[in-house]
Amino acid sequence: MKLLLHICCAPCAVAVADTLISKPGMVLEGVFYNPNIHPAEEFQKRMDTVKIMAGDLDLPVAFFDDNKLDYWKSSLKTDKALRCRTCYSLRLENTAKFARENNFDAFTTSLLISPYQDHELIKSMGYSIANKYGLDFYYEDFRELYRKGREISRARNYYMQKYCGCFYSYSESDHPKKPIYNFEQAFEKNL
Ligand code: SF4
Repeated sequence: MKLLLHICCAPCAVAVADTLISKPGMVLEGVFYNPNIHPAEEFQKRMDTVKIMAGDLDLPVAFFDDNKLDYWKSSLKTDKALRCRTCYSLRLENTAKFARENNFDAFTTSLLISPYQDHELIKSMGYSIANKYGLDFYYEDFRELYRKGREISRARNYYMQKYCGCFYSYSESDHPKKPIYNFEQAFEKNL
């Protein structure tokens, strides 16, 4: 099977990719498409870490550096359920489009590892988007790999983010090590 893995970040993707690569008959590639990560400085840190991870795993990965901060600011409301639904759909839809254009049989996403995301929604959206693009959605409950992914990431010194990605989630995170970002400035420059 030629499978495309949507990579949300290295700490989520590393154990998933590692597991998938080892399956017999699996040809795995990745795509980094996450226009939900703001500001640009944070986006860069996460993308750079995925590049390191891709090198470590010898995994071919396509990178998209779309930003869409203005879209997030103007179109996505503070209602979390609605906002996250739009966010998943945007990322899975672009992954499916890329998969179809590049002759993959199926796609999946490292979002399925996270106990903090709406797992069932991602799963049902994955199947429905795959169907729309004439592809298969590869579903596996990767949540049991979550701890392993964190351990590998710590051991390899990967950057581990302290909030989900969008500026709403930045405000919602009370992580003591959250980086200090000036979102007013980011909005002015749309970065
Ligand atoms: S909280 Fe996370 S999943 Fe939800 S919109 Fe923000 S970045 Fe996307």
